[in-house]
Amino acid sequence: MADFRANGVMNHIAGESVPAASGSVFETVSPVDLSVLAQVAKGGAEDIDRATAAAKEAFPLWSKTPGAERRKILIRVAEAIEARAEEIAFTECMDTGQALRFMSKAAIRGAANFRFFADQAPYAEDGAVTRTPTQMNTTSRRPIGPVGVITPWNTPFMLSTWKIAPALASGCTVVHKPAEFSPMTAKLLVEIAESAGLPKGVLNVVNGMGEDAGKRLTEHPDIKAIAFVGESRTGSLIMAQGAATLKRVHFELGGKNPVIVFEDADIDRAVDAATFMIYSLNGERCTSSSRLLVQDTIYEEVTQRVAEVAQRIKVGHPLDPETVVGPLIHPEHEAKVLSYFDTAQAEGATIATGGTKLGSDGCYVAPTLFTQARNDMAIAQEEIFGPVLTAIPFRDEDEALRIANDVPYGLAAYLWTRDLDRAMRMTDSLDAGMMWVNSENIRHLPTPFGGTKASGIGRDGGDWSFDFYMETVNVSFPR
Ligand code: NAD
Repeated sequence: MADFRANGVMNHIAGESVPAASGSVFETVSPVDLSVLAQVAKGGAEDIDRATAAAKEAFPLWSKTPGAERRKILIRVAEAIEARAEEIAFTECMDTGQALRFMSKAAIRGAANFRFFADQAPYAEDGAVTRTPTQMNTTSRRPIGPVGVITPWNTPFMLSTWKIAPALASGCTVVHKPAEFSPMTAKLLVEIAESAGLPKGVLNVVNGMGEDAGKRLTEHPDIKAIAFVGESRTGSLIMAQGAATLKRVHFELGGKNPVIVFEDADIDRAVDAATFMIYSLNGERCTSSSRLLVQDTIYEEVTQRVAEVAQRIKVGHPLDPETVVGPLIHPEHEAKVLSYFDTAQAEGATIATGGTKLGSDGCYVAPTLFTQARNDMAIAQEEIFGPVLTAIPFRDEDEALRIANDVPYGLAAYLWTRDLDRAMRMTDSLDAGMMWVNSENIRHLPTPFGGTKASGIGRDGGDWSFDFYMETVNVSFPR
């Protein structure tokens, strides 16, 4: 395994590892113990301009490389990810604090993302022929051009493959700006991809701050589209920044996702799934079930059982295979999560379990459950993005629906009931881009992924990803 403490993290432009043009660096610290993991090149506008020039230069060749050939290269990338999955997972654990049990799977899922989109590359340009008595129309797609990919710090390796693989499969070239809190694995990805045969300049990485490197990427006239995953307010900024160059945008943003448990539900399964969806991945997960809506007849029983599960969860070093909850990403984020413990009390909610920092070295926070909450409280409206669950009782279907939809977000919803008619009624009216009935979040890559309201614009997965990274063109001939 590479010694991730020994080497600085450079930018990667046109196939070369390069420092920032200004020579500036920033430190990335491990949330495990706040030790410095690496000095990272602090890219700015000049680095983005160079990376964009490299992506622009590589575009004619890559976009004209036959889809079947792109497929072969991207399958080799998937194989190379699999071969280095352990190294990726270890690095991710130390950089982000996420537990190894989840990061091992996330690294493999990164390979699966490459395989899935690679297999569609040969058909990405396909369209349709339509005819009138006088004209024949051929409709097809072509890659839009060099694109920018801006990613957040939660599960950064897997998430970046989810955006980068379809861009490359479409024939686009990429400038990737990873999150400043988790820069380690983006560099690994580009190295792996090039060692597997991805031509130089097709994938470029510029590290740096959002308001500097990220901003320039969204404003650059040669960048044709921005795929962004992050906070809703950053999405608004990016939309404004990209307006002058009419940037195509795709946003995967925040969530405050309800898990709704009716009295006729399989309570064992519902408790299992609700706790898994908030306490796995440190709760730093856009689709986490952060609001637990429980029918009032079973509210006491369910919240008590959730509290018991939360108390049993192993919080610890991310490399310990037993650990479920590791340290939160960064002291700044930890402070934000801890502040909600005061907010909850000030708002009159009860901290049924957790509500404390653990230890003094790293960013460890106890799995937490708030009860006696109302949906108008900040703890029910705002994305906390930690292992923190807010439980709210409801009387009936109408009230469950009203509470579920009464947030700015609309990413995911989880529903637990044995009544199929009710499930149909509820899923018909829930404001969410993705819903799971009697199930935790299980992803199937051909299905659309994305949110409504402040949770996003556009969908990933299946052919939706290709549609974003490609232009649809129509050519009409007389006949
Ligand atoms: P963030 O918005 O703070 O940062 C995300 C990225 O945007 C970083 O790379 C950052 O440097 C960059 N950035 C910041 N300001 C910018 C600007 N003005 N211009 C261009 N780039 C800029 O998000 P975060 O705190 O890193 O990540 C957590 C958020 O991501 C949560 O809200 C979470 O719900 C969301 N998320 C959503 C999904 C989804 O699929 N819907 C998935 C994962 C995470």
